[in-house]
Amino acid sequence: MKLLENKVALITGASRGIGEAIAVKFAENGANVAFTYLSSDEKAKALEDKLSALGIKAKAYKCDAGDYAATEQLANDVVKEFGGIDICVNNAGISKDNLLLRLTPDQWDDVMQANLKSVYNLTRQVIRPMMKARSGSIINMSSVVGVEGNGGQSSYAASKAGIIGFTKSIAQEMGSRNIRCNAIAPGFIETDMTHYLKDGGAEKWFEKIPLARFGKPEEIAGVALFLASDLSSYVSGQVINACGGMST
Ligand code: NAP
Repeated sequence: MKLLENKVALITGASRGIGEAIAVKFAENGANVAFTYLSSDEKAKALEDKLSALGIKAKAYKCDAGDYAATEQLANDVVKEFGGIDICVNNAGISKDNLLLRLTPDQWDDVMQANLKSVYNLTRQVIRPMMKARSGSIINMSSVVGVEGNGGQSSYAASKAGIIGFTKSIAQEMGSRNIRCNAIAPGFIETDMTHYLKDGGAEKWFEKIPLARFGKPEEIAGVALFLASDLSSYVSGQVINACGGMST
């Protein structure tokens, strides 16, 4: 029996990067996968085909995770199509980095909406089907920057720290309903989001990372699989750092 056999997973922001790796890992482990994206139509279609070829049910939904009404519609559509939602991975996120003196109100709002409001939006939608099923696992994508802060990334760090407070609160609120809520705090992972870091030479970053390399999306997907499955049935309200030992 596969770890996620007969489970339904909803993953936000899975057309690329970490979300895509989680979608593939979950499908390989037997889950039916509904996933969202914002603008990458072709990549989303390609992923839908790739997941379906693994023999599970898969569907891509174009949905802005920061838009409350859109997420309400999304959750209704997924429940109708898939019959429920057992696992929710709030992965969608953006960065608009700037020093505070140059950080505009619009930049601040955009990051908060995409990174933090999105987590509230989707979590509020999925707890209803999870409460009905008396079981669920919610996984929120924070960041090591949300744990430790980082100059030039105050909006991103604040949104990711907010996710940690939200995660711990929901774990306390929903534990009696057998709904678990955990966060993952990745370090530097090789995706489009961190592509620019390599321009200045990746080696200087490696000095700060005991494992002396960036992580791969699949390595975050492995942590997500643990948190999604019964392997972590007594784990809730936790933040798992997956950062090559950078934060200890
Ligand atoms: P990425 O490669 O830039 O991919 C971002 C994904 O999110 C894409 O699928 C994008 O869809 C989607 N997305 C963005 N805004 C959205 C919205 N409002 N609604 C729905 N989907 C949206 O990012 P990544 O590196 O994989 O990061 C994934 C998550 O991990 C983010 O929350 C990020 O903050 C976090 N994280 C990443 C790192 C890292 O080093 N990469 C480290 C720590 C935490 P489109 O393709 O349609 O634009």
